[in-house]
Amino acid sequence: CLMTSLPPLVDSFGRRHNNLRLSVTDRCNLRCFYCMPADDVEFVAREELLTFEEIGRFVTVAARLGVDKLRITGGEPLVRRDLPVLIEKLAAIDGIQDIGLSTNGILLGEQARDLFAAGLRRINVSLDALDPVRFKEVTRREGHEKVLEGLQAAKDAGFDPIKINAVAIRGLTEDQLIPFGRFARESGVEVRFIEFMPLDADNAWDRNRVLFASEIRSRLEAEFGPLVARGRPDPTAPSSDFEFADGRGRVGFIASVSEPFCGMCNRFRLTADGKLRNCLFSLIETDIKTILRDGGTDEQMIESIRSSIHEKAEGHEINTARFVQPDRPMFSIGG
Ligand code: SAM
Ligand code: SF4
Repeated sequence: CLMTSLPPLVDSFGRRHNNLRLSVTDRCNLRCFYCMPADDVEFVAREELLTFEEIGRFVTVAARLGVDKLRITGGEPLVRRDLPVLIEKLAAIDGIQDIGLSTNGILLGEQARDLFAAGLRRINVSLDALDPVRFKEVTRREGHEKVLEGLQAAKDAGFDPIKINAVAIRGLTEDQLIPFGRFARESGVEVRFIEFMPLDADNAWDRNRVLFASEIRSRLEAEFGPLVARGRPDPTAPSSDFEFADGRGRVGFIASVSEPFCGMCNRFRLTADGKLRNCLFSLIETDIKTILRDGGTDEQMIESIRSSIHEKAEGHEINTARFVQPDRPMFSIGG
């Protein structure tokens, strides 16, 4: 049988890679300052975006190499036309067990039901501020109301779990921490705080603007009482998850800068224009699109995937003087 499974993707540090993040577009309806330039963004030409057929072929091959978990991202994935069609296609691939989506939520009100019907069950909504003024400062666009509507639509459609991802920025969204804590306690939605990483388009990242997970935690505890670790059912998950001691409200921390989790990493990424990246911070990438478009074989694709994983570095070097920020900002990599 052509579909037999192959030895898994293990890198030179023994990490097995089963988790693929697929960017389906680099376009976006927001302009978050830590991700995109404010204006004059150069997007990939439409004909350079991988088609659903090309993405499907890649995932079929990756699944033979042990990939069983997918996350759809971007840019804003919901601006890619007919996304539910892709989700249905991916869900049907042998070996794929879990598909998640990361979205800014603006278009969720329109699309939540179709996405659910396509088989999607896990949604992360990025929302950095519960206050509309702060929202606009971060995203440089309107849309706060739409995100809240989108969250409600996702709930109504039956999505579970729904998680909120909030990038925490010193001097900008600090006053949102307590409101988010309250929101987590009242709504039952888990709120995860993400440390600001050097992947912005303007190369203006500054360590002093990173609000560390430990600080966020102590501020929440000062307001709401102790947080109790929920343990790590999945040791490869980047987030450390907590619950307030009184049993009300779950929060998590993705401490990419202050407590890197590279040692357990199982993730790699395919960009919207068909480049394979073994790390967010990688300075090199592997061209998959040429294989897909110029008559390459599955064996060639397998060879390329293996060599990309094999080249993966031990970890990011954000905390060293050696660190070099990749040329591609977050929207272009696929977060
Ligand atoms: N547009 C979708 C969204 O916002 O969820 C998907 C793509 S976005 C690049 C994925 C995630 O990366 C979002 O949660 C976003 O907040 C996060 N992100 C973008 N730039 C970041 C940065 N410089 N540091 C930390 N997180 C970042
Ligand atoms: Fe768009 Fe997401 Fe980047 Fe914000 S973080 S600009 S919503 S891709």
